[in-house]
Amino acid sequence: MQKRCIMIIIISIVLLCGVFLILTEPLIHLYGRTDITLNLNDEYKELGFQAKTRLKDMHKKVKITNNINSKKVGRYQVIYQLKSYFNQKTVVRNIHVIETKKPQIILKGKIDLELCPNEKYQEEGYDVVDNYDKNLKKKVKIKRQTNQIIYQVKDSSGNEDIKFRKITLKNENGPTLALKGKDVVVLKRNEKYQEEGYQATDICEGDITSKVLTLGHVDTTKPGTYSIRYVVKNKNGKEKEQIRTVFVTNQENSNGGVIYLTFDDGPSKEITPAILDILKKEKIKATFFVTDKPEELNPLIQREDTEGHTVALHTATHNYSYVYSSKEAYFEDLKTIQDKVNRLVGYKSKIIRFPGGGSNHVSMKYSEGIMTYLTQEVKQRGFYYYDWNIDSGDATRRYTSDEIYQNVISNLMPEKENIVLMHDFAGNNPTREALERIIQFGKQNGYVFAPITETTQEIHHKIAN
Ligand code: ZN
Repeated sequence: MQKRCIMIIIISIVLLCGVFLILTEPLIHLYGRTDITLNLNDEYKELGFQAKTRLKDMHKKVKITNNINSKKVGRYQVIYQLKSYFNQKTVVRNIHVIETKKPQIILKGKIDLELCPNEKYQEEGYDVVDNYDKNLKKKVKIKRQTNQIIYQVKDSSGNEDIKFRKITLKNENGPTLALKGKDVVVLKRNEKYQEEGYQATDICEGDITSKVLTLGHVDTTKPGTYSIRYVVKNKNGKEKEQIRTVFVTNQENSNGGVIYLTFDDGPSKEITPAILDILKKEKIKATFFVTDKPEELNPLIQREDTEGHTVALHTATHNYSYVYSSKEAYFEDLKTIQDKVNRLVGYKSKIIRFPGGGSNHVSMKYSEGIMTYLTQEVKQRGFYYYDWNIDSGDATRRYTSDEIYQNVISNLMPEKENIVLMHDFAGNNPTREALERIIQFGKQNGYVFAPITETTQEIHHKIAN
């Protein structure tokens, strides 16, 4: 009985103590944010709080301390403490004193640099100014990337400045690659082909001749046209290419010169077949820069192709006022003839000639600067464009066939590539009459005749618009 009484008393005391502790537990609730950012020199203003136990308000019993120095950037605390009997409560408000003005990096020396990829940049120096922090210069982080050097600094308040030096890579334009000897070599059948060599240099890597790859080979037992491609790439991935064309001929009297006969503006009903007949008889291949003519002339384009000539593109309309009215018009017109040729002969010709040639003035009437644009853009689009270095004159004046013959033969160059401009437009009888004599002169004087292919050295006029 006595034991039970004692137990009840103990349990009652424990319960009473528990209730007492709950009722007297100190509680603090802060008003406003518990993380506050203050600008330098701004005064901290207390945002208030509630303090109590479950029995009464304890607001006045709270002890508040803080270590804020608003003249100094840093992290501070306001500490709220409340004691109640055996319990104590501590609550903290964080104060961050900052300033908001960005530091400034001032780069000395050149801002635009020309460097090789691995070339060390000799730092030309920099300073940092900041309204608060001293010695930020030591904290500048420098990062070198391919195309820039980045300078980055943060002040003690987290304000950041970034500056750059721009890097233009010296080897951006690729290496240089030069062939030794001639670009065009004419060999007699069974004569040995001797590689005359080449040289490649890169502004950053020096002599890289050993990195040149040569592709293609020459079989001198078989007459024909061969090309050897020379390719070299620098470490920047930029490539240069050269091509050497080797003609193997049955002719005994070779003078090292090559004649590319080219016929523009066709096909035409009378002239084109006559020219094809002469070429066939003389066993000579040539190049036809065709335009879009009526359907009935389509078989002539097919004949040009099946007889081994190059069918090339001269635009569909040949209408200066249209093709040179805009870039879009030019390419649209070129596509028309490219598609037509593709339908007729089964390949997309990439060999082109501008109406009037790359040096024409007439385009200026319709669009200033268009030739400067087009001559670059066609290359970007994978075309090869050919002007000429011998003008038969058959389109400019009413020359006789004798005059056309003279115009051509008097300008032929041994050891060189001769691209001869002629026309197979309707009624061009003087050219038809002169052709056979021109071919005979060429043969007798040791020239080789060839059609233009994508590996033929491009001959370009000086751009006049
Ligand atoms: Zn033309």
